[in-house]
Amino acid sequence: MICSFHREEAGMWRGATTAMAERSLGPSKMRLFYTVAIWVTLIHCTDGIPWTEEKLHHRAFTLTRAEISTAVSHTDLEQMWQRDLRPLLVTRYPGSAGSTAVQEHIKTVLAGLGAGWEVTEDKFMSQTPYGPLPFTNLVATLNSSATRQLVLACHYDSKYYPPQWHGREFQGATDSAVPCAMMLELARALDVELKAQKSSSADLTLQLLFFDGEEALFQWTPTDSLYGSRHLAQKMEATPHPAGATDTNQLHGMDLLVLLDLIGGPSPTFGNQFPSTSHWLSRLQSIEKRLHSMNQLVDHPDSVQYFWPNIPVGHVQDDHIPFLNRGVRVLHLIPSPFPSVWHTFDDNEQNLDRATIQNLNKIIQVFVLEYLNARPAVPSNPQNVP
Ligand SMILES: [Zn+2]
Repeated sequence: MICSFHREEAGMWRGATTAMAERSLGPSKMRLFYTVAIWVTLIHCTDGIPWTEEKLHHRAFTLTRAEISTAVSHTDLEQMWQRDLRPLLVTRYPGSAGSTAVQEHIKTVLAGLGAGWEVTEDKFMSQTPYGPLPFTNLVATLNSSATRQLVLACHYDSKYYPPQWHGREFQGATDSAVPCAMMLELARALDVELKAQKSSSADLTLQLLFFDGEEALFQWTPTDSLYGSRHLAQKMEATPHPAGATDTNQLHGMDLLVLLDLIGGPSPTFGNQFPSTSHWLSRLQSIEKRLHSMNQLVDHPDSVQYFWPNIPVGHVQDDHIPFLNRGVRVLHLIPSPFPSVWHTFDDNEQNLDRATIQNLNKIIQVFVLEYLNARPAVPSNPQNVP
């Protein structure tokens, strides 16, 4: 267990009280005093951190090169494209037939995996500029009895274009079919590792959020946007967690909300929006460098770098806002600037950059394993066996 804060605090306490003790106690009593002080410190370190603060001290593993090679060997861009992405590239605004089909697709993919995902639906009606519409968020949890979750999130709805635009289909490929497909591919590629992590860790797990209704239906306002995330953040805040808790709710269980949006175009750069989580952006940068040095990244010369923890960028209104406003720590993976095709009919399959998507798949998959302290099993090399 990590205890840097308390060690420092205890050290300060020891320093302040030692002088007083030395003035009033003899040598044998001093030994007893130090022994008691050390034990108090150790007890303080091991049991003193409330579970809601463990996220502030969380340390991720660093995988070995062999473990990274094993982990990224499972991801398959072509399989993701055919199996996960193509079914998402349909008109899927809230309440549409495409929305229902995409929900079924996400549920079917996760149900087919061995890790045993628990998928719940958050269904509700909301008033919109076009009258009341149905919305559905999907929440997939690897181990629902774990107290803490690393959360990955995307929005699966596509922007609605009114009837005069019909005849041209808005695919919303980067916005946000690709991020949702990346999350499904991550669950598939890491299925074995996630299943093992689930049985070995009782207190930390992975959760996937698929938001409905991120897009404004008419024009972006506080009430015409973020329908799904506003509803889910409110609902999670009102839901005790762990079950039966009286003073903590599901939002306390969120270690970090990693929101993926507008991903799939060429040469993205991700700057730093939130100083409180910049160390996790630094870890993504470090993983990018490690994979680069292992020649695991395609079309990724030395001059290319996706993650820029030292470059501050402005805040962007997105699905993290209702969670951020309630104290959840956020890593917002949205490129600055946005892809050039953003909110145009060119945001389609043809304009996606396959190499970038594959590279980001690998980087984010390693990030998830390292955060969850889930080491992939490296197969032994028969040539090395005597
Ligand atoms: Zn959009």
